[in-house]
Amino acid sequence: MFADQAHIFVAAGDGGNGSASFRREAHVPRGGPDGGDGGKGGDVVLEVSAGMTTLADVRQRRHVRAQPGGSGGRRRSHGRNGTDVVLHVPPGTVARVAERQGQGETVAPAELGELLAPGDRLVVARGGTGGRGNVHFVSPTHRAPTHAEKGQPGEQRWIELELKLIADIGLVGAPNAGKSTLLAALTAARPEVGAFAFTTVSPNLGVMELDPEDDGERTAVIADLPGLIEGAHEGRGLGHAFLRHVERTRVLVAVVNGAAADPAADWLVVEEELRLRDPALLERPMPMVVTKLDLPEVHDRWPKLRDELARAGRQPIGVSAHDGTGLDELRAALRDAMDEAISREAQVQTAPAVRVHRFDPLVAGWEVLPEDDGLRIRGRRIEAAAARIDFENEESRGRFQRTLERMGIDAELRRRGAEPGTMVRIGRVELEWGEEDDA
Ligand code: GDP
Ligand code: MG
Repeated sequence: MFADQAHIFVAAGDGGNGSASFRREAHVPRGGPDGGDGGKGGDVVLEVSAGMTTLADVRQRRHVRAQPGGSGGRRRSHGRNGTDVVLHVPPGTVARVAERQGQGETVAPAELGELLAPGDRLVVARGGTGGRGNVHFVSPTHRAPTHAEKGQPGEQRWIELELKLIADIGLVGAPNAGKSTLLAALTAARPEVGAFAFTTVSPNLGVMELDPEDDGERTAVIADLPGLIEGAHEGRGLGHAFLRHVERTRVLVAVVNGAAADPAADWLVVEEELRLRDPALLERPMPMVVTKLDLPEVHDRWPKLRDELARAGRQPIGVSAHDGTGLDELRAALRDAMDEAISREAQVQTAPAVRVHRFDPLVAGWEVLPEDDGLRIRGRRIEAAAARIDFENEESRGRFQRTLERMGIDAELRRRGAEPGTMVRIGRVELEWGEEDDA
């Protein structure tokens, strides 16, 4: 019921290739190098759209690809940059790298970020930079380089999006405590509630006026959070979803079933679940209500119960959803709790910003690993360098060979038994070792 998720593949655009071209002049067969740079590949970006309430649109996209950068051209002309793809998501979307990366590959599911406020943006796949044209590789001793860089590949990965409920106030309590009835009583007087967009996400959300005096100027979204059961922190039943959403409410209301055999003990079970999940939950403002005060037996035990809870440090409000007892007092308590929560948030809030995440799975350094039929070089820097080499071009190949030598990888390959004909793989590049060694 709460689960709104999407698992999609995002691929940023590759950078455009740099150009290896030479000026054409009237009387010179081959002028100086004039190859321009490739353009940057487009990014895949998530952006919060205020009006959205579900991830259904995003889920349907499934595969999202941004445009590659254009190639550089003659006369130093710069390739055009690829257009970004912007995916609109609702406020409260959380993005992470998916554990399943296709073809049975799994990675640690890293958190990418949360998108909360309208306009928040998050780059989830970054376009590759363009390759440099041959004009950049001129030197006093090498006036006519044919080497130009290829564009950097764009990032690509499976990501997971999840929409977390954002309610201002969440009602928590044992089953049958009276949460749903209380929600209805607090919001039923608002005929526009039914038309509110949130009601299509979940029938357990409503809008409550915080101050009856101000003509609905201050409202709060209030959620009846069902599904709390013993063992919830272990992920059993609905409990897991419940607890994930509870974390996103500003204020929790402890709803105690006044008609339970032992109301205080009934509540302690709930409190224990919250503590096991996240002890910080219990440090938030959390007004307490005891329900069903209209029932004679509850009315009779109320003074004793109130004292018992007071000894535990609580100031419970006795309410009845049926006859309206205590609801004004509850509203006022919720207003105060909201004020407190908002002022706390203001103290820790950092400005929403454009965030860029890099997901290079490989750390610094490099290694050479044996494979079935050859050797593999792993390492973020060397893989990136290899991806940018045009191996059809002899000069470019030579540059790459010198990079291997400089980094000491060449020596390691030899130590590992590389000889002419050995297959050497680097990222997506496959090379046959050693043909030009004596050149
Ligand atoms: P929830 O499981 O916490 O959502 O509890 P419900 O709102 O579904 O209520 C459980 C039962 O208690 C239902 O039979 C309700 O009619 C009853 N109930 C809830 N609030 C009150 C109340 O204020 N007075 C009385 N007499 N019964 C109530
Ligand atoms: Mg209920």
